Amino acid sequence: MSPETAATAAYIVAALLTVMSLAGLSKHETARAGVAYGIAGMAVALVATVALAARSLTAGGIALLAAAMVVGGGVGLWRARVVEMTGMPELIALLHSFVGLAAVLVGWNGYLEVEAVGGAQTTVPPELLGIHSVEVGVGVFIGAVTFTGSIVAYGKLSGRMKSRPLTLPGKNALNLAALVAFVALTAGFTIAPSLGLMIGITAVALALGWHLVASIGGGDMPVVVSMLNSYSGWAAAASGFLLDNTLLIVTGALVGSSGAYLSYVMCQAMNRSFLSVIAGGFGVESGTSASGAEEGEHREVDADEVAEMLAEASSVVIVPGYGMAVAQAQYPVADLTRRLADRGIEVRFGIHPVAGRLPGHMNVLLAEAKVPYDIVLEMDEINDDLATTSVVLVIGANDTVNPAAMDDPGSPIAGMPVLRVWEAKNVVVFKRSMAVGYAGVQNPLFFRENTSMIFGDAKARVEDILKAL
Ligand code: NDP
Repeated sequence: MSPETAATAAYIVAALLTVMSLAGLSKHETARAGVAYGIAGMAVALVATVALAARSLTAGGIALLAAAMVVGGGVGLWRARVVEMTGMPELIALLHSFVGLAAVLVGWNGYLEVEAVGGAQTTVPPELLGIHSVEVGVGVFIGAVTFTGSIVAYGKLSGRMKSRPLTLPGKNALNLAALVAFVALTAGFTIAPSLGLMIGITAVALALGWHLVASIGGGDMPVVVSMLNSYSGWAAAASGFLLDNTLLIVTGALVGSSGAYLSYVMCQAMNRSFLSVIAGGFGVESGTSASGAEEGEHREVDADEVAEMLAEASSVVIVPGYGMAVAQAQYPVADLTRRLADRGIEVRFGIHPVAGRLPGHMNVLLAEAKVPYDIVLEMDEINDDLATTSVVLVIGANDTVNPAAMDDPGSPIAGMPVLRVWEAKNVVVFKRSMAVGYAGVQNPLFFRENTSMIFGDAKARVEDILKAL
């Protein structure tokens, strides 16, 4: 078997492993196996690609390749080991930016290797030079949009940038103008490739990626993350065309289409228009009532009072959010669940689809603390029962329980489905201050008559309640 045939066989195996990985990741029972298939597929692909490339490399080239693999693998391993669960979304956004940057570099390499030397001494036949130029333009464009878009997403998710949407005057016209400029520049580049046009395509795409994600509000960031995941897949597929690598094309298209489908499903769950989100908030007016200002009097309680309230309750619903993840409060929360259940109180959890900073974030934390799956319910499964619930404990959730999403059409989170916790007899909100949630919107829930606030780190406060019970 020739080395090329062996590599093709390895690529088919790697592509199948990628399909099995995506299928495994779709259910939590099979997620571990899904990750293992993904690792195996990547290992097969890496070995085959490096072995094939090494045949035409000098000793210096091989040393460079090995050094890049050791450094890249080392940094990846280190970051993955030290990252906190709450830091995962920004790490993922950063990794997407690397895929985008790699696609830009592959595109530039394609240009320098072929168009820059007028097609001389290259493997691209003259009749295919036009197609090659289109591949370069499209690959650089998708890669650059993914690169800057992911950098902005990283900034917003890690709190280094404000999560409020950027609203430049005529933002939709700007996006449209960037698309038209890209088409015109790529057409020009296909007819007569030049360094100036190449720089133009790259600059337009970098600016567009930045603007698209900067224009999206905090509440829509979950969709943006899965959308960037999709873009990174298409960027890899575009590189596959340039490098003539079928594995990159297949796996890139798999990641691209599954990410697009996830974005679509999330948009439906969040009552958002898919097209509006991918067009950087097209057709969405910026909220008129996005304010961090306090809206009235709030009532503060201590752990003893909450323990008393719980002791008298017949049913309790716990609504966790990002703050539970920050405080790592899932273990005392699981203890509280058991203690209340032992007293004959019905305890259930209500999980919002975008609670925390990752899809399934709360489910992972609760599973880690051994909370039984059957009392962990989705928002739609629990919402109608909240009106007959004695006490709702909101533990570090904010945007996902904000009544402004339903009552205030001017709010940036208007239309987003939320857990209607205020319908319960009593609501207790655990947080450290009166600060706003991720979307930067004040929460009128805190000022309702049946709401009490318990301030401090959620873990410490739940432990206090356990002691008081
Ligand atoms: P939010 O992010 O809206 O609010 C979290 C609250 O937790 C804050 O108000 C904060 O208040 C409190 N908090 C933080 N640390 C602690 C602590 N140690 N102890 C007690 N409280 C604490 O939470 P939600 O989960 O309700 O909403 C998630 C938001 O994140 C949504 O806007 C969603 O769109 C967005 N998002 C979700 C993603 C996903 O895939 N799930 C991805 C990207 C964004 P204080 O500072 O006063 O303590």
